[in-house]
Amino acid sequence: MPRFEIAVIGAGMTGLNAAHILHRAGHKVQVFEKSRGLGGRLAARRTDYGIFNHGAQYATARHPDFVQYLENAVDSGAAEHWAAQQWPDPTTTPTIAPEPPETWYRGKPAMNKLVSSLNSGFDIQCKTRIAQIAPTNHNRYQLYSFASEQDHKNRISHGEFDGVIVTIPAPQSAELLMPLSPRFDVINDVKMAPCWAVMLAFQESTALPFDVFSKPDPAISWIGRNPLTKAISPPAPYECWTIHASVDWSQTHLEEKAEDVVNQITAVTKTVFAQAGARLPMPVSSQAHRWRYARTTSPLGQSHFASADGRVIAAGDWCMGARIEAAFQSGEAAAHAMIDALQG
Ligand SMILES: Cc1cc2nc3c(=O)[nH]c(=O)nc-3n(C[C@H](O)[C@H](O)[C@H](O)COP(=O)(O)OP(=O)(O)OC[C@H]3O[C@@H](n4cnc5c(N)ncnc54)[C@H](O)[C@@H]3O)c2cc1C
Repeated sequence: MPRFEIAVIGAGMTGLNAAHILHRAGHKVQVFEKSRGLGGRLAARRTDYGIFNHGAQYATARHPDFVQYLENAVDSGAAEHWAAQQWPDPTTTPTIAPEPPETWYRGKPAMNKLVSSLNSGFDIQCKTRIAQIAPTNHNRYQLYSFASEQDHKNRISHGEFDGVIVTIPAPQSAELLMPLSPRFDVINDVKMAPCWAVMLAFQESTALPFDVFSKPDPAISWIGRNPLTKAISPPAPYECWTIHASVDWSQTHLEEKAEDVVNQITAVTKTVFAQAGARLPMPVSSQAHRWRYARTTSPLGQSHFASADGRVIAAGDWCMGARIEAAFQSGEAAAHAMIDALQG
């Protein structure tokens, strides 16, 4: 079987699963990732007070292959089953749900560990934002980044590839792929909603018997306790909580300053905690992160989308859904489609 050179853009669950499958099939894979770390929206922020999962909070699995993948992660110590104590409805008397209805899996110590088993045997170039994909005369594709955010005149080449899989959020995929072919315009139909994530660390215990508040207020979709991890800053331990603003709130406040978002969301969190009979301690640290493209609200409806020659493929959670499992499956489908296109 010929060995092809394939570039994968994006090192989230979709990109790393695609890269892993292509590498195992014997191809030479090069991953490009714009951030410093891997995992994409399976994001973890390490602070002096502990680790925050500020993107995806847990994974669920419906397909047996993904169940197996997550169970393998549990066996290897990269994930754990999370029997979170939930408070589903703050307007009713708090009740402790004995178990979430589906098995929840959480990366251990943080969500980005869910991709750790995929990352071996191929090159990953971080801190590289691919800005252009250009066809060459030899039926291949050349990748470029810009010299800097400001300097779009000088391009840096990152080599030629037989095939390219683009696994970045839909609006960014459309921007990257439209200059190649207008057929990628279909990606513009995909809708993704933003999310402001606020991270609060407390030295004082919240004394809450709950780990999770799901949709406790119109402004907030999620309040979740992060696992206790080793803090750098003594005296430990600290309680670390992640709060996700709702889609509506995030959309309305999208361009606000992070500190204003922290203040407003902390105030709402205080009222939610009060309804649960707890006092919000004074945070020792508070930060916010804006996810411009957090969750798919209107997916593509197919597992991936390819160029006419099949050698440039767009993939991502947004193809079929809004969950980690959708990303895993899209990466798998894109890898197999690429193998078919190159060998065809
Ligand atoms: C706040 C939030 C909460 C969520 N909660 C859950 C949850 O509880 N359960 C669940 O199942 N799912 C949840 N999700 C969704 C889940 O995180 C995603 O479905 C999944 O992680 C998407 O993986 P992906 O690889 O398709 O995309 P991403 O993880 O977005 O990966 C794309 C990667 O491409 C990189 N990139 C972008 N542009 C470029 C470029 N030009 N060049 C190079 N690299 C580039 C990015 O840095 C990123 O690493 C949540 C998401 C968010 C943001």
